[in-house]
This record gives sequence, structure tokens and C-alpha cells, in this order.
Amino acid sequence: MHIITIECLYDNYSYLILTEDGKAAVVDPSEAWPVIKTLSERNLSLRAIWCTHHHHDHIGGIADLLDEYGDVRVIGFAGARAAINALSEVYEDGQQFDWDGIAVAVMHLPGHTETGIAFSFAGHIFVGDTLFGAGCGRLFEGTPAQMDNSLQRIAALDEQTNIYFGHEYTMVNLRFAGQVEPANEAISHRLHEVAGLRDKGLLTTPTTVALELRTNPFLRVDQPAVIAFAAHRLGRQPRDRVEVFGAIREARNSFS
Ligand SMILES: [Zn+2]
Repeated sequence: MHIITIECLYDNYSYLILTEDGKAAVVDPSEAWPVIKTLSERNLSLRAIWCTHHHHDHIGGIADLLDEYGDVRVIGFAGARAAINALSEVYEDGQQFDWDGIAVAVMHLPGHTETGIAFSFAGHIFVGDTLFGAGCGRLFEGTPAQMDNSLQRIAALDEQTNIYFGHEYTMVNLRFAGQVEPANEAISHRLHEVAGLRDKGLLTTPTTVALELRTNPFLRVDQPAVIAFAAHRLGRQPRDRVEVFGAIREARNSFS
């Protein structure tokens, strides 16, 4: 299995998943042309589209890809059927489907949207806009409690798991993380590394569970420094971890 990152739109990522014998699936095609270009350079045809959630910058390329390649499996969450018309194959949380002999698991991760999912197999997980490098998606449809729970499910995976996210927001997320936890050296170290990568035009995806556990404030809501940041925002002690989560998500919304 070979994974290729495709840059789309302004800061979106789509991902190609290629089998040994050249079958291609694409995760979250924002737009069709970069996907078609990458596939035609390799003389490959598209067999499947995996959809993490219904936002247009993740499904905008589907119609043109179906025009180009015809018979393509369009795979997503059962609950997203109404929002993504093109879905031809849907699954519930915990169900698996076969992708060329590999079992791909579907994980329902509400928070950014009500019906968002991740796809995982063999040490890789594609999370859409649920988790970003050192951050998480905005709560457009879900609650802080839902998003906290969804992120905890990702955090519970093997630490070496590669996490493929939907947008390049890592740099600004790390600057925010540094405000939340000024004494966290893992954050300042990663900020320095990511600045070097971005200066060279390189990408910060995928990340890993281990790296996020050390540097992502949304996975660290039980840390004293993060609780103190939330308390300062709230003007009182947070009642529980969900309030901590909500307070830092609010703070991130107005940070740029
Ligand atoms: Zn989204």
C-alpha cells in the first residue's frame, strides 16, 4: 500500500491510496484535476472515493471524478447519506470494508460535523477535519464533549499510528499551542521543525499519535498548564475536562 498526498485548493489535502497492483482510492477529493493529474502521470485509474465528511472542500471533486472514471465505489458513513448524494456504499461506526484484501475500519467521530468519520488500516488513519497537526477542527455541528471524545478515540490508537489530516494548519496551531503551554518544550521544538519544513514548501502531514499527545493542546486537556489557560479564559476553575476543551477551542477560534 502506497499513500500519496495531493495538495488541493488553498490548504486542503486529499490522499491517494494505491495498492501494489495499481488500484487507486482517493480520500476527500476537494477538486478533481489534481487527482486526475496525479493518477494519469502514473497511468492509473480510480476505483474508490472515501469521504470523511460532507463539507464541500472535501467532496467538491467527486462529480468530475465519476465523469472521468465511471464505475467508482463512493464510500462513507451511513449517517452522511443525505448530505453526500454520491455515496454508493455506506458503513456504521466499527464496520469494515475490503480494499484489495485490506480491512479498512470506519470510526464515527462527531464534533466538526455530526456525521464525520475516519478510515483506518494498518497503522494509518485518515481523519478529515477532526484532528489537525497540533489542533482540531472547528465545532460546526458538534459539542465540545463530542469532539473531546472523538479525539480521545484517536489518541487511544497505537502511538506510531500515522494520522492524515485535511488541512495544513500546523504552523498556526503550534503558535496557539505555545500560548496555551508556554513551558512545553515539545511544542517549541516542533514549531521550529515545522517552520523549517514550511519554509521549504514541505508538508506536515502525516503526523503521529505520539507527536500529537506531546504537542496538541486538544489532546492535553488534563494537563495543569492547559487547565490553567482555560481557567484564565473562564475567569474561574473549569468544572471538568469538557469545559477545559470548550474554553481552548473558543480561544483558538479567535486566534490567527
Ligand atoms: Zn470540514
